[in-house]
Amino acid sequence: MLALRVPQGRGSTAKVTCVTRTRRHGCASPMPKLIDGRAIAEKVYADLRRDIAELKAKGLTPGLAVVLVGDNPASRAYVRSKDKMCRELGLHSVKLELPSSTTQTELLARVDEFNRDSAVHGILVQSPPPEQIDEAAIVRALDPRKDVDGFHPENVAKLVLEDASGFVPCTPLGVQRLLLESDIEVNGAHVVVLGRSMIVGKPLALLLMQKNKNGNATVTVVHSRSRNLAQITRSADIVVAAIGRAEFLKADHIREGAVVIDVGINRVEDAASERGYRLVGDVAFDEVSKKTRAITPVPGGVGPMTIAMLMANTVKAARQASFG
Ligand code: NAP
Repeated sequence: MLALRVPQGRGSTAKVTCVTRTRRHGCASPMPKLIDGRAIAEKVYADLRRDIAELKAKGLTPGLAVVLVGDNPASRAYVRSKDKMCRELGLHSVKLELPSSTTQTELLARVDEFNRDSAVHGILVQSPPPEQIDEAAIVRALDPRKDVDGFHPENVAKLVLEDASGFVPCTPLGVQRLLLESDIEVNGAHVVVLGRSMIVGKPLALLLMQKNKNGNATVTVVHSRSRNLAQITRSADIVVAAIGRAEFLKADHIREGAVVIDVGINRVEDAASERGYRLVGDVAFDEVSKKTRAITPVPGGVGPMTIAMLMANTVKAARQASFG
C-alpha cells in the first residue's frame, strides 16, 4: 500500500491511502482511496483542543456524563473509551456505572441529577439498556440542551427544521465530516443510505439533504423491505451502508467510481483470531474497493469519527450553555 497526502478543502490535509498501485505510476487508475477515519478524527481533536483551551481561558471546562446500566461488555468498552477521550482532551468526565437491576425510577433520578449539574454539559445513557428500562422515556427525560447523542425529540425536530442549535447524532455527523474532509462532493450527489434507524440512517438522510453547502444531496433510503435494492444502490454516487449485516454490500451493488462509507460493525467468527472473532463492516471490502473511488475501512473508518463527534457535541453544548 502506498500512503499519499492529497490536498484537502479549507486548507487542511487528510491522510488518504492508495489501495492499488502500478510500478510505473505509483497508483493504478482508477485509484481507490482508503478514507482514514483515525487521521480525520485526529484533525477534529486538534480543532477541539484549541476550542477547549479557549473555553478554559474563560473559566469553562466542558463536562460529559456517561451512564452505563448493566455489564454488556461492548457497552462497557464504548463507555471506557469515551471517558478516556474526555480525559485526554481535558474535559470534565463523569462515568456512572449502575447495576443491571437498576429500575426506571432510579435511572430517571440520576438523569435528573445530571440535568441539574452545572458542571455537566452533555449526558449520554449508553445503549442498549437492560430490558426493564424504557429507553425512549429516558431520552425524553434528558435536558435537550445536554442531549449530545441527539436523540431527544426536540433535537430530532431541530435536525428536520435545519436549526443548527440542535444536536445531531454522532455517527451521521461523523459520516458527513469524513466526506467533507475527503473532498467528496455531497452537493447535488445521489446518496443512497442503507438502513433507516434513528441512530444512523434516518438522521444521516436528513443531514445530507439539508439546504446548505455541506448537504444538498439527493438522498434515497433503502431498508429491509425495499424492492430492487441493488438497482437503487448502483445509481448512487455515494453509498452509505448501515444495516448490521456482515459484508452484505457486494461489488454488484455499486457502480464503477462510487464512494462507499461503511458504518457497519459486525463480529464474525474467526478461529485464527485470539478473541475468536474479527470485526467486519456491512461492505465486502475486498471486492467493493476494486470499483470505488474512495472507501472507508472497518475498523478505522466511521468508528473513530463517532467518538470524535461526541466530544465535539459536548464542547458545543458547553459553549451554548454558557455563551448562547
Ligand atoms: P439497526 O437499528 O438494526 O437498523 C438496521 C437497518 O438496516 C434497519 O433500517 C433495517 O431495515 C435495515 N436492514 C437490515 N437488513 C437489511 C437488508 N438485508 N437489506 C436492507 N436493509 C436492511 O442498526 P443500526 O443501529 O443503525 O446499526 C447499523 C450498523 O451500524 C450495525 O452494524 C452497527 O453496529 C453499526 N453502527 C456503527 C456505529 C459506528 O460508530 N461505526 C454507530 C452505530 C451503529 P428495517 O428498518 O426494515 O428493519
